Amino acid sequence: MKCPKCDLDMSPKTFDNVEVDRCFGCGGIYVDKGEMEQLENKKLSALIDIAGKSEKAEIMDDVEAICRRCDNPMISLRGANDVKFDWCDKCEAMFFDRGELAAMDVVIDDD
Ligand SMILES: [Zn+2]
Ligand SMILES: [Zn+2]
Repeated sequence: MKCPKCDLDMSPKTFDNVEVDRCFGCGGIYVDKGEMEQLENKKLSALIDIAGKSEKAEIMDDVEAICRRCDNPMISLRGANDVKFDWCDKCEAMFFDRGELAAMDVVIDDD
């Protein structure tokens, strides 16, 4: 599948039986509906996310995300820790820019 933001091919990666797609161009992570709960339960966010901010990640922050599976513009939302992410209202997948998934995990750990 192509990256919602930079249009490069994403690589499927499996972490503890949860498969996510990660983009090596911008470091973004595409999470299918239902997978997010598993990531949170297993506390995999920090493992999956490539920690740290890159110059490109900040540029990509302003780029509109398009779900390549549905060809649908994704909606910008705010989640835990006021982290911005993109959500597809058709397949309910989520897309996180580099660093965003790990940033949300901070709050989960504090629970
Ligand atoms: Zn990308
Ligand atoms: Zn979609």
